[in-house]
Amino acid sequence: MTQSAHNTAPSRGDTIVIDPMYLPKDGRFGSGPSKIRRTQVQAIENHMYDLLGTSHRQSPVRTLVGDIQEGLTEFFNLPEGYEVVLGNGGATQFWDIACASLIETKASFASFGSFGQAFVNAANSTPFLQNSTVSTASAGSLTLPAIDDSADAYCWPHNETSTGVAAPVTRFAQGHDSNALYLVDATSAAGALPVDISQTDVYYFSPQKAFGSDGGLWIAICSPKAIERAERIESQHNQQRWIPSMLSLRKAVTNSRKQQTLNTPAIATLIFLREQIQWLNEQGGLSWASERCNQSAEFLYSWAKHSRYARAFVQDPAIRSHSVVTLDLDETISADEVCAHLHANGIVDTFGYRKLGRNQLRIGVFPSVEPDDVVRLSECIDWVVAHMTQH
Ligand SMILES: *Cc1c(COP(=O)(O)O)cnc(C)c1O
Repeated sequence: MTQSAHNTAPSRGDTIVIDPMYLPKDGRFGSGPSKIRRTQVQAIENHMYDLLGTSHRQSPVRTLVGDIQEGLTEFFNLPEGYEVVLGNGGATQFWDIACASLIETKASFASFGSFGQAFVNAANSTPFLQNSTVSTASAGSLTLPAIDDSADAYCWPHNETSTGVAAPVTRFAQGHDSNALYLVDATSAAGALPVDISQTDVYYFSPQKAFGSDGGLWIAICSPKAIERAERIESQHNQQRWIPSMLSLRKAVTNSRKQQTLNTPAIATLIFLREQIQWLNEQGGLSWASERCNQSAEFLYSWAKHSRYARAFVQDPAIRSHSVVTLDLDETISADEVCAHLHANGIVDTFGYRKLGRNQLRIGVFPSVEPDDVVRLSECIDWVVAHMTQH
C-alpha cells in the first residue's frame, strides 16, 4: 500500500471510479438521517397548496397528524389504550421529557453505546432525580437494566445505533415491582425491528431513521400507565418540580389528542412521515418491513463472513442489529479511505460511528433501502478494496 492510501480524502487523480453497472440505484446508506424515497418527496409537491404553509391548528394539518397516529396504531398493532403522542425536538428531547415527566425518583438504565449513555447522562444531570442505577456493557455487547426495586423506570435502547447491537424488548423485571415503567428508545429500531408494544410503557423514536422522514420530531407510543404517571407527576410535583412546557408529557398528550403539537411542527416532516407509514402498511406492515431489513442485514453479515477483509463487529449473532450493520475491516484496509472512495461514487454515509474509533463501516439497512442495492453496495466495496490494494 502506498502512502497516499492513508489519506482519508483521495485527491481527484486518486479516486477509484466504480463501473456504473455495479452501482446501487440509490447510494444512501446512512444510519440516520436515512434514505427518503422519491414518492415521499413527491408527496411534498402534491401537498403544496393544501398543507405546506398552512396552519397546524386547522383541519388539513390535523388530519395529517391524525393519519400518522392511525397509521402507527395499525403498523404497531397497538394494544387498547395506548396513544401515539408527538412533539418537537427528537429523541434527544424525549430523554429530557422522560426525566421531567416520567421518572419519579430514580431509573435503572442499560448503557452499551453512545445513545444509551446519553440518556443516563440526562438523568444524572436532572437535579431532582436520584443517581441512576446503570448496567454497562462494552461496545459490541449487550446488557439490560439491572432489576432494582427502588427504580420507578427501566430504560434502554431497542437498537444501539452507535454499535449495531439490538436488545430484547420485554418487561424483564415483572413481578419485582409492577410500578416501574419500561421506556424504550426505539429511534433506529421502530419500523425495522419486530416489537410487541405491550412489553413497553413508552416506545419512542425520531422519524429520520427507519421511517425515512426528517429530524426534529419525537413520537412516543405511550401506555395508559405512562400517561397516568406523567399526569400525576405534573399535578403532584408542580410546587417542587419545574416542568418547562416543552418537557411536559402531559401537555404533549393534551395536544396529541387534538391531532396537534404544543408548538409549530415542520409540516414537510409530517408529510414525509405519513407517506412512509402508508407505504409500509400497504406493503404488509411491520412483519414485511422487518423481514426486508432481516434479508438485507443477513446478506451483509454473511458477505462479511465470507470476505477476506471484513467481519461483523458484533460477535454474538443473536444480538446483531438488522437495521444498522457494523462491519470491521482488516487493519491493512482503511475504512475511512473505503468510505471516501464510495462517497466519490455517490455512495454515502457508510462510515462508522465516530466516537467508537474503529476501522469500521456502518450501514443503515432500513425498509426504504432496496435489498438489491445492499447486494450492489457489497460489490462496490469489493471493487474499491480490490483497486485500493492493487497499488
Ligand atoms: C439517532 C438516535 C437518537 C437521537 O435522535 P435525535 O433525533 O438526533 O434526537 C437517539 N437514540 C437513538 C437510538 C438514535 O439512533
